[in-house]
Amino acid sequence: MQLKDSFDRTIDYVRIAVTDRCNLRCFYCMPMEGITYEPKAHLLTYEEITRLLSVLGKLGFKKVRFTGGEPFLRKDFVKLLDSTNELQMYDSIHITSNGTLLEKHIPKLKELGIKNINLSIDSLDEVRFKKITRRNDFTKVIRALNNLLDEGFNLKINAVVMFGVNTQDILPLAEFAKSHPVNIRFIEEMPFNGGYKKNAQIFKANDIYRIIKNEYPSLSARPKSHGETATNYQINEFKGDIGIIPAFSRTFCNTCNRLRITAKGEIKTCLYDGGVFSIRDFMRRGISDEELTTKFVELIKLKPMNGFEAEKSGKNTLGREVSMSSIGG
Ligand code: SAM
Ligand code: SF4
Repeated sequence: MQLKDSFDRTIDYVRIAVTDRCNLRCFYCMPMEGITYEPKAHLLTYEEITRLLSVLGKLGFKKVRFTGGEPFLRKDFVKLLDSTNELQMYDSIHITSNGTLLEKHIPKLKELGIKNINLSIDSLDEVRFKKITRRNDFTKVIRALNNLLDEGFNLKINAVVMFGVNTQDILPLAEFAKSHPVNIRFIEEMPFNGGYKKNAQIFKANDIYRIIKNEYPSLSARPKSHGETATNYQINEFKGDIGIIPAFSRTFCNTCNRLRITAKGEIKTCLYDGGVFSIRDFMRRGISDEELTTKFVELIKLKPMNGFEAEKSGKNTLGREVSMSSIGG
């Protein structure tokens, strides 16, 4: 079956934040002192997440991404990967990670056939990496990156581009795709940084494109696949490719296929809404799978046309002290 929203978009991709905790302090995501974490009892349990995935699988969801916070920071995260795998309902399981704790789990990921990893690396310069993440984990992350490459994972590197901070990293990061089969994704900065800074000047997707095109004139767009938020580009003789994600400009909403579930079980039908329903509280009332299914069908119909509509709905998260770490990026 296919689940359609009110704008005839097929919704088949769920992103779940398994924790709001993180061991880095990327300043576009969290203030230096961190955010107020949810008590453990407020988080969805692994059993609850697996149940949700089973219901969504029956509703036609085909792709799941685990994110956070840092997913590998949550105890026994691989058990959740195991139980998701056992469901045999998803075409692919994806993980977004900062890479600091990942290395030792590579054999298990291989065993489970989980090959799709997004690593967040905003700079290949150690000093700037440290300045951005406010931690000293560059060597660990680069080691994880190299190991994942050696082991043949499908790797994407997420780099948030920040005005006046790391625009000088755009070309070195792009260059990395010349000799490595990775997708380097440049992401516009969004205003979800836990209140650390207001009204950041946004370095737009067009500006990123111009810098890369100027250096590599053969840069050319690939056709978009279902639900893809990035515009992907190839460059002659590059092993990997380049993606640009207009996360702030929101020019991709007409093909959005996502549903988000935050660490504490809040459903977000759009990244820019403030959370529309607590699926955790609903489940903890003892409802049946049928009731859960009906609720998801209802919730999907609430999905706004685009991120600007979500923002206007009055329930948006902009201007609030919200961190991407609790939303799940
Ligand atoms: N800790 C993991 C990581 O960093 O990959 C997963 C969670 S993180 C919130 C998921 C993604 O959101 C990362 O790629 C991160 O760069 C991105 N992100 C966080 N804050 C952002 C912001 N304000 N604007 C754009 N992207 C952001
Ligand atoms: Fe942590 Fe990821 Fe946020 Fe950085 S972007 S602080 S690694 S959750």
